[in-house]
Amino acid sequence: MTVFDRERLLFTPASAEPDAVGTIFAFPNEYSVGITSLGYQIVWATLARRSDLRVSRLFTDLHEPLVRSPQLLGFSFSWELDYINILNLLEFLEIPFHSCDRDDSHPLVFGGGPVLTANPEPFANFFDLILVGDGENLLDDFIDAYQEVKNCDRQTKLRHLARVPGIYVPSLYEVTYRSPDGQIQAIAPIDATISPTVQKQTYRGNVLSASTVVTEKAAWENIYMVEVVRSCPEMCRFCLASYLTLPFRTASLEGSLIPAIEKGLKVTNRIGLLGASVTQHPEFEGLLDYLSRPQYDNVRLSIASVRTNTVTEKLAKTLAQRDTRSITIAVESGSEKVRKIINKKLTNEEIIQAAINAKAGGLKAIKLYGMVGIPGEEDSDLEQTLEMLQAVKKAASGLRISFGCSTFVPKSHTPFQWFGVNKDAQKKLKWLEKQLRSRGIEFRPESYNWSVIQALISRGDRRLSSVLELTRQYGDSLGSYKRAFKELKSKLPDLDDYVHSDWSTDKRLPWDCIEGPLPKTTLIKHLNESIAWRSPVPNHQSPLITSR
Ligand code: SF4
Repeated sequence: MTVFDRERLLFTPASAEPDAVGTIFAFPNEYSVGITSLGYQIVWATLARRSDLRVSRLFTDLHEPLVRSPQLLGFSFSWELDYINILNLLEFLEIPFHSCDRDDSHPLVFGGGPVLTANPEPFANFFDLILVGDGENLLDDFIDAYQEVKNCDRQTKLRHLARVPGIYVPSLYEVTYRSPDGQIQAIAPIDATISPTVQKQTYRGNVLSASTVVTEKAAWENIYMVEVVRSCPEMCRFCLASYLTLPFRTASLEGSLIPAIEKGLKVTNRIGLLGASVTQHPEFEGLLDYLSRPQYDNVRLSIASVRTNTVTEKLAKTLAQRDTRSITIAVESGSEKVRKIINKKLTNEEIIQAAINAKAGGLKAIKLYGMVGIPGEEDSDLEQTLEMLQAVKKAASGLRISFGCSTFVPKSHTPFQWFGVNKDAQKKLKWLEKQLRSRGIEFRPESYNWSVIQALISRGDRRLSSVLELTRQYGDSLGSYKRAFKELKSKLPDLDDYVHSDWSTDKRLPWDCIEGPLPKTTLIKHLNESIAWRSPVPNHQSPLITSR
């Protein structure tokens, strides 16, 4: 019995027509990882439901029997470092890495997912086309448009597909630089028939996604995932999960969530509620009541990160009764000033109360997440984080407390996209580690080096693709990236420019040809509101306000 035979499908794949378009749909990681991605499941099911496509799935460790001479090759791209596997899979399929080296004998290579929607530019050379935004309507629009030109030459296909709202064809845009290692001068379509920008697509329905396949081989065995909300209305100024996916949308309880959960419970007893801010669903209480009914006593319930001030005793109790032992909340900082800077509407009292409620409801542990290196953060702010954690420990003694901490990484389409990574962040992490260890609070720092690599990819432009090709050979450590930059010196800006520099708001951004949910003027307004909360520093003028 193969891995694929063990899957329980919650949709009916179509039988392919004789002239169906051969398609490979890949996830650039192992099967267990890919099949646990709700995004991958949904796109695969959407493609497999079409009788005009013949689809086979490809993972890094296994694949279905692959269609011969595929015309389309798609990648669901949700973790930055998986680019190495994208290149490996292209090599496996004997397809040139660069779009410009492919001809009519090669499939069109398309991609979508959070990494590409945020900033496609570091990967732009590897893709023929990129689907930007929600797949609900976009995917079918793409395939319908492809069917119209499937017998044409490559250029005709790409030009035709570029007319579909949300499809970005990087080769139809030319990027010019002030010098080989200088700033971007312009990003312009190659002729007047191509739109100057591509608008990210937003699905506005109230039926959200749910698993299309359940399998014991998933990373979370037999999990059935239900998307409760999409985006987050809180708009913390660094947060991609909020800004890039606005507006906040909720699945209707009666029309979407309950039918989806009932469908899932026919094949498994493990339910995962997904979304950036699940407990902010306006009918979340109703959902909890529904899941608390005695007939669901054997249901195992997992829930994505919740907002601190929505951790009630009732929520904790429901989770504890449904086999969850801990709850995860992102607090970012214990400093009121820092929370104002990032627009996190939260108080230390609410954090402490959440821990008290978690304990009272029967949970065994609470995982708090924070961040260092937030622009405007000072040493005294870190001390306040320490004090807040101690207060949580004291108020909910017996509850296991851990503090996971990352470094601030700038993300495109957010007000903080112009800020660089704080070079002292590693020292700050070390300081916290020392202080917390001596106070008996578990500390789980995220690697600073990994944050630097994330920032590089997050703010990279097309020139970065040469670095990515080299690091594929050198390995994915920060040292490998530094080595690649050294080798490519004077062919692109320094690593520091991408990662650590604050950028002027006048600067052309690599992703300027992608229109996100909010215009740049609104992001700048939010940025300035944030700067206003900083401590006054004599003679300090933010480099963000002026051109460099
Ligand atoms: S509450 Fe969480 S998900 Fe929502 S904007 Fe803030 S950081 Fe993002």
